Amino acid sequence: MKAYRHHNCSRTHRTWTALAKCIWPRALWLHGNGPYASVARCGRGTTVQLSETANDARDAKELVDNTGCGGLCQRRHEVIQLIKP
Ligand SMILES: [Zn+2]
Ligand SMILES: [Zn+2]
Repeated sequence: MKAYRHHNCSRTHRTWTALAKCIWPRALWLHGNGPYASVARCGRGTTVQLSETANDARDAKELVDNTGCGGLCQRRHEVIQLIKP
């Protein structure tokens, strides 16, 4: 699993949602909360689903792997662990 600890500013983000918004400022949507992100980077843009556990994030990724994330799905989905600096 990839881990991201770098984001686009020097502030300390108190919530995972705020950190994820800083990492993916152009995300079309960002749902959930937690340190594990299921990220889709397909045709329409980046979408991010945050989960409390790695298993939940993998389940979320498997769901979009199986069903597609939208009309232009290119199966560019991955699970990324967020680490607060
Ligand atoms: Zn930041
Ligand atoms: Zn997709």
